[in-house]
Amino acid sequence: MFLISDLVSLLESYLDQKHIEEIYAAYLFSAEAHDGQHRLTGEPYIYHPIEVARILAEMRIDHTTIIAAILHDVLEDTETTPGEILESFGSDVLTIVQEVTDDKSFPKQARKDLQIAGAPRLSEQARWVKLADKICNLSDMAKNPPVGWPMERCVAYVDWCEAVIAGVRGTHVGLEGRFDDVCESARNAFKVE
Ligand code: ZN
Repeated sequence: MFLISDLVSLLESYLDQKHIEEIYAAYLFSAEAHDGQHRLTGEPYIYHPIEVARILAEMRIDHTTIIAAILHDVLEDTETTPGEILESFGSDVLTIVQEVTDDKSFPKQARKDLQIAGAPRLSEQARWVKLADKICNLSDMAKNPPVGWPMERCVAYVDWCEAVIAGVRGTHVGLEGRFDDVCESARNAFKVE
């Protein structure tokens, strides 16, 4: 389990204290927003955005993107408003979070199609968050296939992640390589070619 203290140690290797404090504030904000929510694995939800931030911190990605990564699901899955993010973290962070937020007025399948269609239009920082999010989701799924999901559904999920990421390639060799590795392990876990 990768917790906030481990993330902070990693950040200390390349960011200054002021930026680390801003990231910590984003963690407190996100933990409160996601309070009571859980992942399909049963873990508290906040573990997921911390893991996404860790993947980016391992690549020494800038602090604005790390903050957006910690907040990447709050507009989609909590009561948080764009105004609250703007006020606490500024417009650069808000823009990235909005770029990776699905429009919930569309039905689920349409939202999944829109992620594929919209990926090529994402900013560089939003692409990094998207890559780290998909890396995290696929590695969770490979380790712990969701209860009640038949293999075909897991494989279809890997296919969809690959289709989304196809639209953001050419932006970060390290993250893309890591995504490819995790796709391969997921496909092996679900025993398909
Ligand atoms: Zn996510």
